Amino acid sequence: MKLTKQIIIALILGIIVGIAFHSFAPQAFEIVDTYMLTPVGQLFLKMITMLVVPLVFFSIILGTAGMSDPKVLGRIGGKTILYYIVTTAIALVIGLAVAHVIQPGQSGIMAGDVQTETFEAEEAPPVMDTLLNIIPSNPIDALASGEMLQIIAFAIFVGFALARLGEKTEGIVKLVEQGNEIMMFLVTLAMKLAPYGAFALIASALGNQGTGALQSMGLYMISIVIALVLHAVVTYGGAVALLGKQNPLQFFKNFFPAMTVAFSTSSSSATLPISMRTAQENLKVPKSVSSFVQPLGATINMDGTAIMQAVATVFIAQVYMIDLSFADLLTVILTATLASIGTAGVPGVGIIMLTMVLTSVGLPVEGVALILAVDRILDMTRTAINITGDASCAVVVAKSEEKHLKENE
Ligand code: ASP
Repeated sequence: MKLTKQIIIALILGIIVGIAFHSFAPQAFEIVDTYMLTPVGQLFLKMITMLVVPLVFFSIILGTAGMSDPKVLGRIGGKTILYYIVTTAIALVIGLAVAHVIQPGQSGIMAGDVQTETFEAEEAPPVMDTLLNIIPSNPIDALASGEMLQIIAFAIFVGFALARLGEKTEGIVKLVEQGNEIMMFLVTLAMKLAPYGAFALIASALGNQGTGALQSMGLYMISIVIALVLHAVVTYGGAVALLGKQNPLQFFKNFFPAMTVAFSTSSSSATLPISMRTAQENLKVPKSVSSFVQPLGATINMDGTAIMQAVATVFIAQVYMIDLSFADLLTVILTATLASIGTAGVPGVGIIMLTMVLTSVGLPVEGVALILAVDRILDMTRTAINITGDASCAVVVAKSEEKHLKENE
């Protein structure tokens, strides 16, 4: 746990240093940011991002090849996807409920007042395209461009073939095993940089952003944070305790290092190597489950993002004084679940997908401009929840397959 303490101290220092620079020495900050904070933060980010594609590729091949029975893979896949969809829907209900109680958009904010940044709506990719695109037409291209779902699909096929071919392809299995060892070794190495990286990323983000924008948006931010915490404690805590048979407090404590890295990078995808390692070592999730459940989750399961979208939709509706009917709320749950599947695990994508949700209930997409200023900071908090959802799923699925996995060992 020594590393966890170091990262927490680094985060707190990063927050203090960032805000202090922004408030007292903005000019000096530019130099410190350009020559120190950004390079250190980027170095860490690049170190872990570098490992994502090979790690996902090797570990999914191994996980699939290790399951002698393809039915088990189907079962794990089914449970995983079901868990992801159900928890995302619960997240949305919590988000909508909290926003209805707190009423973040009714505090006298006028659409014209907060419009500090312009927003150009980008086309969100149609969900059907995302689904059909899962099978890559060129796997090398998928690997080269980091198309996560395509890489997952290709790796499952290769793993399946290896399991079927048995002795004939033993050499390749060994090779992939060793490749996986190399990646895990490098993840452990990169983890040592985490406190420095987290400090630099947070100080840089807050130094550039300051906390000015936060004040007028206080209720909106509080609503999101309350909903995120509720979802983590009730939904994940409950699932881990009842289905995963683990102590929820221990679960959060053990997974905390990965949450802090997600918080500082705002990217589920970049955090993936660290969240997989943390789940395997601290939460004792078997490699075969973690290597399948977590990369998939980092790509399609975004409960934190869904919560932001629910609260943002209610907020924007309130500011524009548009009433949302019960049918509208159901539409929000449906489209935001789909949007969260289509959201890539990189910074700021959630807000682009929000346009899809707004359009579905006839709200103006320009409303996004209202919340853009505070989104950088909220992105951190929701990304930490996004990856915790994946880890809780890994714990639950591992427990449910315990007997089978033991037999397989
Ligand atoms: N940054 C989030 C993630 O990587 C996605 C988002 O909500 O923008 O999980």
